[in-house]
Amino acid sequence: MNFLKRVQGLIYPEKLTCDFCGREIFSGKLVCEDCERDLPKNAGYICFKCGRRTHMPTELCETCVGKELFYDGARSAFCYDGYARKGLVNLKFNNMRYLARTFAEYMRPVYLLSGFNADVAVCAPIGRQRLFDRGYNQSELIAREVCELVGLEFCPHALLKIKETQSQVGLTDEERTKNLRGSFAVNEDFDAEDKTILVIDDVMTTGTTINEIARALKRAGAKEVYALTAASVDADGRNKY
Ligand SMILES: [Zn+2]
Ligand SMILES: [Zn+2]
Repeated sequence: MNFLKRVQGLIYPEKLTCDFCGREIFSGKLVCEDCERDLPKNAGYICFKCGRRTHMPTELCETCVGKELFYDGARSAFCYDGYARKGLVNLKFNNMRYLARTFAEYMRPVYLLSGFNADVAVCAPIGRQRLFDRGYNQSELIAREVCELVGLEFCPHALLKIKETQSQVGLTDEERTKNLRGSFAVNEDFDAEDKTILVIDDVMTTGTTINEIARALKRAGAKEVYALTAASVDADGRNKY
């Protein structure tokens, strides 16, 4: 950067607003102090398996107990509430793609502390029609940023959504499983054999999507499958999707 540019940068800082609330900030950070304090970090009691918030110390939440789980563990940076929820809706539906980086910044420490130690990362795929309509897959955007931050190899096209499914909103866990069964496939170019794979997605609700993806990856030979999401719905559904 030349001297003139640097002086201009001081007079007209490029980054002026908080990524979440839009308020002016001059710290050069992505998020203002108020949002930083109020963001619903997923830091309390969590289910040991799905990583979603529980309101009492427990090993496994009600959703995970007695369920056939193909993934080995999952963690999320936020609870699906407040500005985390708003931000993810804006990233997904309102073309605010820059938020992928913002969320990735918060997912980095969660991944590093998780002990998942993945060989490679993939993202939850969306159907062709949805990709065409939206123009991008929000999970891919997040995954790309996370992988850059933690230095992980990213295979964006490892998974395919081979069946268009109805929206999961309002469905029970059982209905979700039925709805998603057989809708994910592993791309034949992707070598899952004996690998520890990290699946990156935007929101974890009941964990059905991650579980169905893990089922496909394990069938393709994956050794372990873990998930990292920007946010998750509480295990007791208090912040229902
Ligand atoms: Zn803010
Ligand atoms: Zn659980």
